[in-house]
Amino acid sequence: MIPAASFAGKRVSLFGLGGSGIATAHALIAGGADILAWDDNPDSVAKAAAAGIATGDLRGADWSRFAAFVLSPGVPLTHPKPHWTVELARGAGVEVIGDIELFCRERIQRAPAAPFVAITGTNGKSTTTALTAHILKSARRDTQMGGNIGRAIMTLDPPEPERHYVVECSSYQIDLAPSINPTAGVLLNLTPDHLDRHGTMAHYASIKERLVAGSDTAIIGIDDSWCAQIADRLERAGRQVIRISKRLPLTDGYFADGTNLMEAVHGRYSRIAFLEGIGSLRGQHNAQNALAAVAACLRVGLELGEIQTGLESFPGLAHRMEQVGRKGHVLFINDSKATNADAAAPALSSFNRIYWIAGGLPKEGGIEPLRGFFPRIAKAYLIGEAAPAFSATLGEAVPYEISGTLAAAVEHAAHEAASDTGGEAVVLLSPACASFDQFKNFEVRGEAFRQAATAIDGVKPIGGPR
Ligand code: ADP
Repeated sequence: MIPAASFAGKRVSLFGLGGSGIATAHALIAGGADILAWDDNPDSVAKAAAAGIATGDLRGADWSRFAAFVLSPGVPLTHPKPHWTVELARGAGVEVIGDIELFCRERIQRAPAAPFVAITGTNGKSTTTALTAHILKSARRDTQMGGNIGRAIMTLDPPEPERHYVVECSSYQIDLAPSINPTAGVLLNLTPDHLDRHGTMAHYASIKERLVAGSDTAIIGIDDSWCAQIADRLERAGRQVIRISKRLPLTDGYFADGTNLMEAVHGRYSRIAFLEGIGSLRGQHNAQNALAAVAACLRVGLELGEIQTGLESFPGLAHRMEQVGRKGHVLFINDSKATNADAAAPALSSFNRIYWIAGGLPKEGGIEPLRGFFPRIAKAYLIGEAAPAFSATLGEAVPYEISGTLAAAVEHAAHEAASDTGGEAVVLLSPACASFDQFKNFEVRGEAFRQAATAIDGVKPIGGPR
């Protein structure tokens, strides 16, 4: 745990007592703060009280006595409207911050030289964070990973000069971290998302921009116009910017040429790493993630050889284009995290002979946006409530069956993929739907896929339950 000493001897209010809220409360207490914590959910309050945290309704508190108000990132700061606690804090002139801000203040106090990589973007945050941490660990660097992935940031080990931090940041967390100051800040991409919580795309982009604006080195994916403009703006302001592109040869920066990762210096190119043969990093979207990870690792001092070794041993993240088994030319891929059409697109664009298992609880727009990938689909196996609507969209364009259940879909798809003579055939669960009609969540759905696939006679499992 990282004791949050920046508020030693001061009174701090805290709202939101989920896992990360409790961890933050303990960190503040360990650092010597006098805290008062609350949540709208009485069970969470009771749990916190049982864990020795002072709780009390913040409506009746004397806000003039608080030095800071620590808010959980799940609670609305601005949109659709500020939470009542935020109104009270602002009314009393109390600063509103989150756990990443507490971490940044501790790092600056204890070990400002501790390498700190912060990663954000609309898509690919978790993959890039896990990959960066994996490369650092495989190069035997003391590495701590957390934030919006895995462990809450204040549960990590305290900053020391040689300790590396790799932190995934959601836009909510950045919004609560006014002094975020990573060694290397990564902004992967920006597409409309969470606009209910950010109002407009411009506001959403401006929050994400703060992470790279505060960085010693800003690593920015410039394949969308929002990020390209941010890179230009920071450079004009004299900041150090490294551009990455998953498709364009750049004059300066890092770009992907197929599976080769290239460095460009004043228009001269050299290959610095490659993804050929790395199953966990297939697809153009993963080239973007890998470029960002490579750029960040170089920035914190790794050698190219160490980086390539780390790329090659990356196991990938569960449920995101995860290879779960193989039988001869048939590969089984679990992309259960793809709960809408946009999220299913990267997987569909990464393979050519696809036996596609799709469906579940449908989202608005269905699979119409995926029409461009239909020629890659050998056959679709439709499950859950979305099956009738999806079958109407596929129409004559793609052969399909209504399998109903995931188990039937896996069995039929595996059987038919086995007799495909066109090279590698992929049985792909990338449902473009939520799971709740048939499963508790996407993780349970992905595990069910893994079990059904690896139970097939002759399928060699890859990896295991995570
Ligand atoms: P996040 O943490 O931002 O939600 P993940 O790394 O968990 O992202 O990936 C979630 C899904 O997003 C993946 O299954 C893949 O379909 C898609 N994805 C991953 N990386 C990218 C990227 N760089 N660009 C676009 N889509 C991506």
